Amino acid sequence: MTHDPAQGRSWQLITAALTATMGPGRDRARWTLFLCPVHEADGQHHNPSLGVRYDPQQGKTIVRCFAHCDDKDVLDKIGLRVRDMWDRLPERNPNQRGQRRPPSQAQQAQQARVSLVDKAIDYARLPIPSKPDFGEAVGPTENVCAYLYRRADGHEEGVVVRKKTPHEHGEKKSFSQARWSGTSWEPTGFAPIPYRLPEVIDGVQSGREIYVVEGEKDVQRAMDTGQIATCNAMGAGNWTEQHAKWLHGAGRVIVVADRDRPGYLHAAKVAETLHGHVGEVRVLQAAAGKDLSDHLDAGHGLDQLEMVPYLDRHYRQPRSGPQQQRQITRSR
Ligand SMILES: [Zn+2]
Repeated sequence: MTHDPAQGRSWQLITAALTATMGPGRDRARWTLFLCPVHEADGQHHNPSLGVRYDPQQGKTIVRCFAHCDDKDVLDKIGLRVRDMWDRLPERNPNQRGQRRPPSQAQQAQQARVSLVDKAIDYARLPIPSKPDFGEAVGPTENVCAYLYRRADGHEEGVVVRKKTPHEHGEKKSFSQARWSGTSWEPTGFAPIPYRLPEVIDGVQSGREIYVVEGEKDVQRAMDTGQIATCNAMGAGNWTEQHAKWLHGAGRVIVVADRDRPGYLHAAKVAETLHGHVGEVRVLQAAAGKDLSDHLDAGHGLDQLEMVPYLDRHYRQPRSGPQQQRQITRSR
């Protein structure tokens, strides 16, 4: 990969994070091409479609998924933020302020969330994710287990298959998805429903606590302790409003954040989509290790999860009205 000193801080940061998460990029004409962390992270073979290049004029690293994934989603996946595309934040020209359209309420909420996650990440000193070096594959890919996603009526909608491939330095895991067409399994994504949806619906109706964790394995672990738990398919960064709406009306939702940058960004997104739609939102994390499985393996109970600084306090408060929200924005 190119390491041209003329390429600024944003280039170093973004290409390092992409390399760590998705593997090295390839130089092709004006772009360095990486696998897109949003739509090409399933472990299958793809022709890399995420172009990255540095624009010295703007002091900006341009990130473009040629399949049209959103920049923000791409950066979310590698633990970075939109502002990391600039070597330094663009200067505001005070003369232009009057002409600028005021940010919409959605933009304001988005900005407030990003700033909150920044504080949480800085406080926890979470490093930029790095991908362990597994070396070359030394054997065939095998399926480890399959997680069936059911619709509200209990019928199958899709499946996530967890796989492993032996490498020189350990086993590499990957995931693939398939959708039930009614007659066969198609190798494609499926409707954005939470895992264990029928149980989630029961939990909402009966007013039980619901845990939202980062992967199916942790859902299983939480369920084994007698709790109701759920997640979205394909991990951090893929939770949407459609997933959230199934939890609306729940009494208490406990979002368990994996202890890394994508985990915090993911947890904040989950909490944001539930805030004001459920009785109480908590954002907690493992007292030992990275995720809920580590926490339970260390002998801790679910009642021993720890608060995530900033995120837990913020989302635990009742959602503020537009008036209060404006004041929060101004006082930042
Ligand atoms: Zn993409």
